[in-house]
Amino acid sequence: MAIGGIDIARKAIHGKCHICGSYGKLSFEHVPPKSAFNDTKLKRFGFEQIFDKGPEEIPTHGYKLEQKGAGGYTLCEKCNNLTGTWYADDFADWAFEGMRLLAVSGGSLSLHYPIKIFPLRVIKQIVTMFFSVVHPEFRQKHFDLEKFVLNPETKYLPPSIRIYCSFMNGNWARSSGITVIGRFTEVGYKPIVMSEIAFPPFVYVMTIDSPPPDDRLTDISWFSRYDYNEFDIVYPKFNVLPINYYLPGDYRTIEQMKEDRIKNEMEANELGL
Ligand SMILES: [Zn+2]
Repeated sequence: MAIGGIDIARKAIHGKCHICGSYGKLSFEHVPPKSAFNDTKLKRFGFEQIFDKGPEEIPTHGYKLEQKGAGGYTLCEKCNNLTGTWYADDFADWAFEGMRLLAVSGGSLSLHYPIKIFPLRVIKQIVTMFFSVVHPEFRQKHFDLEKFVLNPETKYLPPSIRIYCSFMNGNWARSSGITVIGRFTEVGYKPIVMSEIAFPPFVYVMTIDSPPPDDRLTDISWFSRYDYNEFDIVYPKFNVLPINYYLPGDYRTIEQMKEDRIKNEMEANELGL
């Protein structure tokens, strides 16, 4: 699998923990957890290798081979171990169930399917993953979110933070730190402030005081209303979004990307560029 995305710290073994902020030795945090299909080698591309590539063009060189899977040296050992113990196994169950549903569906799901999970543990693992991909200073403005992750019993996401999810298909996994995307809507220009992690079978988007980048994403913030030990059968309805490009929030099919490319080239010709 190829992985896009540029924001996870790769080299710094010493630094600030992205969750608790303590300075010291950092440990490798798998994003998503190793047990959720993230235990194989990946080719990691940076922006410079892929920004000018079209659909279906995966570069043959310039990548880093990630032996450990996707992730980075982002968390202190304490935060890594605690969150791993509290949330990772239940997140892996959720990912396995998702992978199974996606496989039996043949890639197009149109119904609400049951998934048996500990919802609060799943969403806490998702937030833990977002702490890894965003900048270490993110926590300074989001103490409530830090508390949400470091206290397993704490319920409810802060109102400014929403977590969205959908199934994904495509050749790419990708992750991005806080990104601002401009969208023109009926009511004018709207900036979308978000971070994204796409890794089979799911794509996750965290928004900050912002609408989601695509209406096909499903809001799962309500998972945070459960108790830590509360098990449930949830019936979310997830679309299957294509992931074919490195840009966060880009859920175009290969056909749409090809059409856009032709349109852009025609517009550039008309402008004499
Ligand atoms: Zn820490």
